[in-house]
Amino acid sequence: MDKAADRRTALVVEDEVNIRDLVCLHLQVEGFTCVGAGSGTEALELAGRTPFDLIVLDLMLPGVDGLSVCRAMRRDGVNRDAPILMLTARLEEADKVLGLDSGADDYLTKPFGVRELMARVRAVMRRRAAPADGDPSQKPIAFRHIDMDPARRRVRVHGRDVDLTNQEFNLLYVLLSQPGIVLSRDALLRRAWPGETFVTVRSVDTLVKRLRRKIEDDATEPSVILTVWGTGYKAADATT
Ligand code: CA
Repeated sequence: MDKAADRRTALVVEDEVNIRDLVCLHLQVEGFTCVGAGSGTEALELAGRTPFDLIVLDLMLPGVDGLSVCRAMRRDGVNRDAPILMLTARLEEADKVLGLDSGADDYLTKPFGVRELMARVRAVMRRRAAPADGDPSQKPIAFRHIDMDPARRRVRVHGRDVDLTNQEFNLLYVLLSQPGIVLSRDALLRRAWPGETFVTVRSVDTLVKRLRRKIEDDATEPSVILTVWGTGYKAADATT
């Protein structure tokens, strides 16, 4: 078997050479081939002609900033669906990244540890790899009082079957498969309504409200799907 053939390619956009090299080094260990870019303009040039399996994008860049790069990539071109992990210097910036619908899938605040970086990378890759509709390779999930069987598209709450729409199922599955990980409305939108462009991020709030009524013990005080103000939603940590 030719291992090189299924190597994935990552674009790492960061003007600080030390951080760029560090990220590349660890992505290589993870099996990625890395392409580095030191500015937004360079990133857009590279992303314009090469499809990447992952894009790590710093927010503060000389010239075209990370948010604009992210939006431009999402608008059209070969990387419009590529997983994008944003790097930011501060948490307030991270809120902006996800709150402004830049199209980023997730963010990481600097300074970050290697384990955190790799956990985020794996999470965004997994999210993109998970197909929207019933796929036998998707694993069943047991999360507190909720059991999800994706192969049969079945959900049980306290052992009782509950009817979920396709969107509700997709949204719940993507949240419960990565407890504690914050997902932006935009990222959830693309998971619950894959390929549709006319729904807005507000639809995510409406969907979450409906979903909570079906799966929470008390929908007014949710303990499974938690709101992260200004950012999005997450499933509670499985252990708490
Ligand atoms: Ca920078």
